[in-house]
Amino acid sequence: MKVLCFGSLNLDYVYAVDHIVRRGETEDSAGMSVNCGGKGLNQSIAIARAGIPVWHAGAVGEDGADLVGQCECNGVNTSFVRTVEGRSGHTIIQVDKDGNNSIVLFGGANRSMTREFIREVIGSFDRGDMIILQNEINLLPVIIDEAYTQGMQIVLNPSPYSDDLNACDLSKVSYFFLNEIEGEQMTGEWEPEKILRAIHERYKTAKVVLTLGEEGAMYSDGQSVCRQEAFRVKAVDTTAAGDTFSGYFVAALIRGMSPQEGLALAARAAAMAVTKPGALDSIPTLAEVQLETEKEGTSC
Ligand code: ADP
Repeated sequence: MKVLCFGSLNLDYVYAVDHIVRRGETEDSAGMSVNCGGKGLNQSIAIARAGIPVWHAGAVGEDGADLVGQCECNGVNTSFVRTVEGRSGHTIIQVDKDGNNSIVLFGGANRSMTREFIREVIGSFDRGDMIILQNEINLLPVIIDEAYTQGMQIVLNPSPYSDDLNACDLSKVSYFFLNEIEGEQMTGEWEPEKILRAIHERYKTAKVVLTLGEEGAMYSDGQSVCRQEAFRVKAVDTTAAGDTFSGYFVAALIRGMSPQEGLALAARAAAMAVTKPGALDSIPTLAEVQLETEKEGTSC
């Protein structure tokens, strides 16, 4: 079975400021960094670091060499990453001295998907292969329809949640990966059990992974529910916790592990990710996760 992650690649321009800039104000920044990210890229790299071969499909602009380089040095196949005219998707992030942020998002190349490109990519995969999607690129409804026609298993992380998702035929989705906020946005419910029930009522055949931050995670196939506690760690930065969890859960599915084993592996990897700052840099490799597991033993 092949795994395709069709999603965003972003450059994050992060500026350290005293306070978030006010209207009409100009403020010096104490430092800046440019980081590769985007939910698509994060999840591709999590899957690759979990030891599963993965193809990434998407687009970067003329400034996107580092994004392609990140894929390559992590072993993500880039034969379906196009370089288009203009700028890559990017964010301008101000982080103030108390850690609050404000973000300007520019979709850039992430909004350049075409029907022809989608057909070309999906035509290279087969029935039973798995496609991983988030909501940061354009033409998501077309991607879901094409992948379904091709017989692929569709994993959707509807993040960031937006009204655009109403245009997607979500009955074609095999797995929803959600956090609590997306679960509430999708169903109007905020209790985990009710979120799961509401999704199963609407999408009879879908399976659901619901992450609950420090409260752990749940998996439901509509018949039974598995639960996993979060591993107790000192959290430094929870960026990419969900993406790490998603990537490792996909890897567990591909390896034929049970959902309960998958939750435990994903929770261990995500707990390690929150102990390190940053997004991509914090995603552990399978060897690191196994070492940690041997040290402490799993508690599922
Ligand atoms: P997202 O990053 O999408 O908001 P969550 O916050 O639900 O997703 O986190 C995903 C998973 O990461 C959780 O199910 C949990 O396993 C792990 N995780 C998140 N925060 C912590 C934490 N503070 N300590 C340990 N594990 C955590």
